[in-house]
Amino acid sequence: MVDSSGRNIEYLRISVTDRCNLRCVYCMPECGIENLEHDEILTFKEIMLIVKTVSQLGIHKIKITGGEPLVRKGIVNLVRRIKDIDGIEEITMTTNGVLFGDMADSLAEAGLDSVNISLDTLNSKNFNEITRRDCLDKVKFGLKKAVELGLKTKINCVPISQLNGDDLIDILKIAKENPIDVRFIELMPIGFGKSYSPVCNEQIFEQIEQNFGTLQNSKIKHGNGPAVYYNLSDFKGSIGFISAISNEFCDTCNRIRLTADGNLKLCLRYNNGVALKPLLRSGISKEQLKRVIENAIYNKPSHHGFNSSDTENIELKNMVQIGG
Ligand code: SAM
Ligand code: SF4
Repeated sequence: MVDSSGRNIEYLRISVTDRCNLRCVYCMPECGIENLEHDEILTFKEIMLIVKTVSQLGIHKIKITGGEPLVRKGIVNLVRRIKDIDGIEEITMTTNGVLFGDMADSLAEAGLDSVNISLDTLNSKNFNEITRRDCLDKVKFGLKKAVELGLKTKINCVPISQLNGDDLIDILKIAKENPIDVRFIELMPIGFGKSYSPVCNEQIFEQIEQNFGTLQNSKIKHGNGPAVYYNLSDFKGSIGFISAISNEFCDTCNRIRLTADGNLKLCLRYNNGVALKPLLRSGISKEQLKRVIENAIYNKPSHHGFNSSDTENIELKNMVQIGG
């Protein structure tokens, strides 16, 4: 459906858990984490009802995220059930890849259309420092399985000066050797992200051209989002840049988010949305639910305003609780 800023909202990101098997330093703390209780997170039945409702409002692309989505029990079944909903054309997932290798066959069979694997470095020492865990080999296995299965695969890499600033060319080489798109995502000043300095995409662009020659605009559509894609000769995959801060793309924002505890979030930067869980649990009718969601989407904020000093309703949660 079209919101009050004239944008076609067609994409819902669903965070299915706030738990994670990694502890990326820019996303969550090492310890002292207070996870949601089991009954605080939406059940699959509740998620299904929300997806059925938004599908009637023109949303036809779903992304499953977390926390780490693959730690939620029964996730393969949820993928299958969502894919079967009338009007849902595409279901994709963003994962840290640790469990993906072992679950890839079942996910592909359940109808997963594509996968984004988050990987910030191929340097194992830096990987362990960033994620506070030692499992780079598992992520590499996940990538290998994704390619073997012919799943459309992207790598999400968040370049951060202090952490992986020297590792970006090595990550990029994955796109040279495999049909995998490598995307550089500008760090956003959310939660622990505020403590680190992003490497800006312009700088990476220059570094790539110095190493591999001119980046050519890619003419094919690569996904549902704001990434701008380029090709390099002899590369099997493309290179994407998501520049939320240096190149705000709110005018073409097509997405809304559902948090694990049932908040419908209209913009990443703001904490005001609609708490759907109490409505669902107090027996709202399907028709009323549809009207509530329709009204919320219509009033989606026009801009994130990350570059402004306005602090009203600013999201204070960490990215692990939002889902990216
Ligand atoms: N655990 C899954 C994963 O890592 O892919 C899904 C959830 S994670 C929050 C989704 C994405 O958000 C990851 O690619 C992660 O690197 C990215 N992310 C986390 N904090 C961020 C920040 N402050 N700015 C930009 N991206 C961030
Ligand atoms: Fe977990 Fe993903 Fe956050 Fe890393 S970025 S801590 S994998 S939710």
